Amino acid sequence: MLKINQLSKYFHGKQVLHSIDLEIKEGEIVTIIGPSGSGKSTLLRCMNLLEVPEAGEVLFEGTNLLDPKTNLNEIREHIGMVFQNFNLFPNKTVGENITLALKLLKKMDDQSAKEIAFNLLTRVGLADKIDVYPSKLSGGQKQRVAIARSLALNPKLMLFDEPTSALDPEMVKEVLDVMKELGEGGMTMVIVTHEMGFARQVATRAIFIDQGQVLEDTTPEQLFTAPKHERTKEFLAKVL
Ligand code: ADP
Ligand code: MG
Repeated sequence: MLKINQLSKYFHGKQVLHSIDLEIKEGEIVTIIGPSGSGKSTLLRCMNLLEVPEAGEVLFEGTNLLDPKTNLNEIREHIGMVFQNFNLFPNKTVGENITLALKLLKKMDDQSAKEIAFNLLTRVGLADKIDVYPSKLSGGQKQRVAIARSLALNPKLMLFDEPTSALDPEMVKEVLDVMKELGEGGMTMVIVTHEMGFARQVATRAIFIDQGQVLEDTTPEQLFTAPKHERTKEFLAKVL
């Protein structure tokens, strides 16, 4: 589904990603873990070209995102993204947050768009919040709305950047449960997370990044029980 070849990224002359090779297959649930500043967000953002790499290729279903002829907006409809801080539109209701892209990009009428919003909100357990403004929601509810919104265009791939890091501890589970269900439904997902339990139990694959390099790319079981690199062991010792 997604293929990254020899990808390098620099910020102000400093290299933050070093010749990354990575392939994400349909149905995989891949977690990316690693220390703060190691390049996890940058790598994730390169997957839909929110960050533009200086070298290498990003292919989505065979289409090279860096080809100037590629219609990026069309590709991005297939790639949903969920951020740490929800990024909901505060001046729009929960329902409007979800229907916006459907009306704007898909030219869908009010009624049909609202029906899709209702169904998505039902899936994340928030159908009763459809007419409420985001400010009235808890962090966990906001993130579930953000997930519902990112599903509106029926993406093939979902990217999550620390979706539970801004949440109070008691709200982490409700969000992880929604993500788990999404995975069980067959969604292909790449998830940057510090939730090691989730990475271990839900992911089909785990990647450890340090200083812009992929040091491990293996099964969660292998990564957590028998990491190859000393740096992985040090990291796990601190977070487990
Ligand atoms: P992580 O998500 O693993 O914490 P990031 O991908 O955010 O790491 O950052 C990797 C490195 O790139 C860090 O050194 C960070 O300071 C730097 N960086 C990230 N985004 C920018 C940016 N927009 N401008 C300059 N430097 C950045
Ligand atoms: Mg980050």
